[in-house]
Amino acid sequence: MTTQEQLGAFVMPTYGRFPVVLDHGTGESCADETGKTYIDFGSGIGTNSLGYCNADWVEAVCQQVHTLQHTSNLYYTKVQADFAEKLCEVTGYTKVFFCNSGAEANECAIKLARKYSFDKYGKGRHKILTLVNSFHGRTLCTLSATGQEVFHNYFFPFVEGFDFVTANDIDDLKAKLDDTVCAVMIEYVQGEGGVNALDQAFVDAIFEECKKRDVLVIADEVQTGVGRTGTFLAGEQFGHKADVITLAKGIAGGLPMGACLANEKCANVLDKGSHGSTFGGNPVCCAGGLAVLKTVTAPGFLDGVKEKATYLREKLSKLPGVASVSGLGLMIGIALTDKKAGDVANAALEQGLLVLTAKDKVRLLPPLTISKEEIDRGVAILADVLAQ
Ligand SMILES: *Cc1c(COP(=O)(O)O)cnc(C)c1O
Repeated sequence: MTTQEQLGAFVMPTYGRFPVVLDHGTGESCADETGKTYIDFGSGIGTNSLGYCNADWVEAVCQQVHTLQHTSNLYYTKVQADFAEKLCEVTGYTKVFFCNSGAEANECAIKLARKYSFDKYGKGRHKILTLVNSFHGRTLCTLSATGQEVFHNYFFPFVEGFDFVTANDIDDLKAKLDDTVCAVMIEYVQGEGGVNALDQAFVDAIFEECKKRDVLVIADEVQTGVGRTGTFLAGEQFGHKADVITLAKGIAGGLPMGACLANEKCANVLDKGSHGSTFGGNPVCCAGGLAVLKTVTAPGFLDGVKEKATYLREKLSKLPGVASVSGLGLMIGIALTDKKAGDVANAALEQGLLVLTAKDKVRLLPPLTISKEEIDRGVAILADVLAQ
């Protein structure tokens, strides 16, 4: 059996995969089973934030594997303590809960918000407003939180207590912010929903209205966080600090890790016994996360991300067949004038470039470490594909 046949036979058919078997990688490029190489403008959906097999990351992870691979959270580990301290220091949040994915981080944030409200106001104030076109994960609860009708099928009954506000519609926000609401959850840049940044005025209104009512703001920074947009958190660019944020994707350089961080006000809401995870804060993943944080917070690194993002965006906007370029930093959506995003992604693959799609856009999430030379090579392939 070929690898593709094997996967077809033994893995549930939940994914539409590109017809390629990836085998190994270094830096911004990877190779398939036949040795054909690809420049990766998708970085495993934004997870390989330092590219493939970054030397410092590999060393940190391997050293941890050789030392202590897991203990559960019944015991303390130094590497989890160091990662937690550094993450709080870098983000300005007070405490963190570790889990293993974006959906789990959002589950934690939702539980936290409901308990915050329950502890203070009692029952009945449990609703969480999210945005139309949002994406918050694939568990039953985070599917319920996701503001896209296509996700609200088959799996009935869904989790109650969510309502959806039209993005950038301040009147809709105000109308739905009643006394049953305990939190508003947003992505500053909607990723899966089509790489659209929220309007500043709408974000300002959310924070202002929520503050008046002691409603928590949860920022789902699973995709936008850890330097992706050119600042460590996307919220920095909007001038706001949410009560609770969630991180995952790029946080541990390609290892499964999720984090839910809370400010001083909410830091102790989830108390002993109220939440937990067997693997959350696993030592190997924490070691990978520490290596990512060291790199991303090194002097000048994020300025470099911003600079590369501007460079890439300018090049993309000048390509034939490109209608507009959206998103923030190295989280990029490309609206096309007439070609289909899926066709472009398949043609790019043929020519040795990996790209993603989001709704009708081509989506790029290149590794934060990408070089200008690799950007040039990738854009040249994309230009070729679009010109055909
Ligand atoms: C990817 C993503 C998630 C889900 O993360 P998983 O690790 O797949 O559970 C949640 N929110 C946002 C904004 C995402 O981009």
